[in-house]
Amino acid sequence: MCLVVVLAVACERENAREDAQESAREEVRSAPEVASGAGARPPSEGSLEDDVERPPAFAHAPAEGPTDVPTTEAPGTPQCRVPALPIPRPRECERGEDYPTCKWQMPAAPLAEGRYRRWRNTIVEHWWARPSLVSFLLASADEYRRLHPDQVLAIGDLDAPGPRHRTHDRGVDVDLYLLGALMTENAGGGRYPSNYEGKDEAEVEALRGRVLDLAKVLARCSNGAIRIYYNDPPVLERFLAWYGAQGFPPSPFDAPMQAHNSLHDFHFHVTIADELPVLPGDPLPEGLSHPIARIEPPPPPESAPHLSSRNRRPGEWAAVPRE
Ligand SMILES: [Zn+2]
Repeated sequence: MCLVVVLAVACERENAREDAQESAREEVRSAPEVASGAGARPPSEGSLEDDVERPPAFAHAPAEGPTDVPTTEAPGTPQCRVPALPIPRPRECERGEDYPTCKWQMPAAPLAEGRYRRWRNTIVEHWWARPSLVSFLLASADEYRRLHPDQVLAIGDLDAPGPRHRTHDRGVDVDLYLLGALMTENAGGGRYPSNYEGKDEAEVEALRGRVLDLAKVLARCSNGAIRIYYNDPPVLERFLAWYGAQGFPPSPFDAPMQAHNSLHDFHFHVTIADELPVLPGDPLPEGLSHPIARIEPPPPPESAPHLSSRNRRPGEWAAVPRE
């Protein structure tokens, strides 16, 4: 194990690649023998049941953020409105400052009434980002739940700068997981079983439909200014055809969906445009306001081995194509 750790650390320094590291971190957190090392947090054993979060910190901040803008969309068209959930933010936001001194945090999953869960390897310190990204995720998760109320959408890292990602440092990136529906599952411990193998065509198509619907919702709620990394060729082809027919305004991205390295078999890496506005939303119930909270700094990688890529098997690095 030690040799593997040393080699992996060496490789990490030479290979500052976004999602390879992200995956490695996921593996580490799924491997108790590594995660229980000195300085590590208790290992998170991967089930969504350990999505235990702090209680809502309702404070006495003015209820700002999503504005109550009426929509005139036809029924059935995604409205992409931010649901009335308490969204933590620091005082800097109330003072009118911009990202990065002002960030919003995803509301704790137990408050989201089934719209989303927190990905098992994501810590709350990595759930902060630009207000626009948080509003986009909340609105998208709300829309998606309407389409597939039984589908678990897990939201992974938002801003998580450091050795684990090459991006996720500008408030515009997020990793999304549709449990059981994407090509493969990151089951932890380096296991990535297929979600499609052994299923008949109709079942696979039904799963692909769920994936495609998520991509469409994301595109709708960003007005087309989005880039998703995901590898399934039929989904890519269908999504691009659909996207092309929508008449979205010009996007800052080359393509709204692109294949990337094999880690994007089991999650969407989503990037929104810097310019995406905060989406409109519903006001909080009478008497409630958005909690004021300090942006929690993530633990330094050296003090939290489960958050870095120290157990990546060196041979795997070569298999991950550069971006
Ligand atoms: Zn990512």
